[in-house]
Amino acid sequence: MLRAAMTHQLTCFLCGQRFDSEEPRTVCECGRPLRVDTDGVVPREALPEREPTLWRYREALPDCEPVTLGEGMTPLVPVPNFGEHWFIKDEALNPTASFKSRGMSAAISMAKRYGIRRVAAPSAGNAGGALAAYAAAAGMEATVVMPSDTPSACVLEARCHGARVVLHDGLITDCGAVVAKMQQDDPSMFNLATLREPYRIEGKKTMGYELAEQLGWRLPDVILYPTGGGTGLIGMWKAFDEMQRMGWIGAHRPRMVVVQADGCAPIVNAFHSGERFAEEVANAHTAAAGLRVPRALGDFIMLDVLRASAGAAVTVSDEEMIACAKEIARAVGVFACPEGGATLAAARRLTADGWIKPEEVVVLFNTASGVKYVEALS
Ligand SMILES: *Cc1c(COP(=O)(O)O)cnc(C)c1O
Repeated sequence: MLRAAMTHQLTCFLCGQRFDSEEPRTVCECGRPLRVDTDGVVPREALPEREPTLWRYREALPDCEPVTLGEGMTPLVPVPNFGEHWFIKDEALNPTASFKSRGMSAAISMAKRYGIRRVAAPSAGNAGGALAAYAAAAGMEATVVMPSDTPSACVLEARCHGARVVLHDGLITDCGAVVAKMQQDDPSMFNLATLREPYRIEGKKTMGYELAEQLGWRLPDVILYPTGGGTGLIGMWKAFDEMQRMGWIGAHRPRMVVVQADGCAPIVNAFHSGERFAEEVANAHTAAAGLRVPRALGDFIMLDVLRASAGAAVTVSDEEMIACAKEIARAVGVFACPEGGATLAAARRLTADGWIKPEEVVVLFNTASGVKYVEALS
């Protein structure tokens, strides 16, 4: 393992215990995720000259040689036919056609810096494809464990990138147990499961930087995020704090909205019942693979963000999200995934309730391309 001096420390999101970053870390001793403490300052005036990838914010990212396929700086598409000041952040335009490439670019870059050669992760779909692609780019061996009913395009993608794909009868949580077992048998394999290592959040947080940059260094009023493990939600909130520290924005924050599926809504349930942690959902089911996460290690972080932002939590049926995905495709030319469709359905409901006002700036996240969802959209 490489033991170069690292510039950042890691702090447990829950108990505050601190760790150095001299060696690869997973989670805190208390079992909860670690946050990367960055104190770098991005020279904002230099941004227009920089490449249109998430590495344009490199001073805010952990110090490493990027493994990059051009991820980030995705379009913020105005969708005035849905709402006067509404936008879709179209994450389908990332390499691997989903925003999972952001997190994997950062995580694989750091894994490479640590000298790791073999990586693995459980995945409900898009994370597996992204892990496989970035491992290929870094010359690493990848193993992906996916539920056997994962969208076929994601399975094919991971295989084509050369990953060993194991299909397992069960949910992503069950696949996580399979990866943990593999890792016990082979300690050289590093587990990049959501929030089980600190750096995927760092890649995902750049969505927060991009929103600010693309809106002229203002933040939107409302952000609707289709939520599984919550890396993007947690990451954007972290980015807002960092931008405030750099003096780019004030203390005002967008209201964050967690959007989940009727058949799998642990965070929505916990938010409405006032819990600090979310209970695992039994028999989780939804066509939105990215939302089929019955238990999340970062549940309490998401719930804190929702409460701190005066946010909301909404569930959507599979029928509604698929109808909305197709409507986005027809009405604006963005080939949305069901998860992206879910944010439109949720935004409309919150508008009808008067929670979103017509003059507000609203961002919907389309987190992957519809091409990944052949079965659900056929
Ligand atoms: C993974 C995924 C999500 C959920 O993202 P998190 O940051 O893990 O909550 C949403 N949509 C799609 C398409 C995904 O692949």
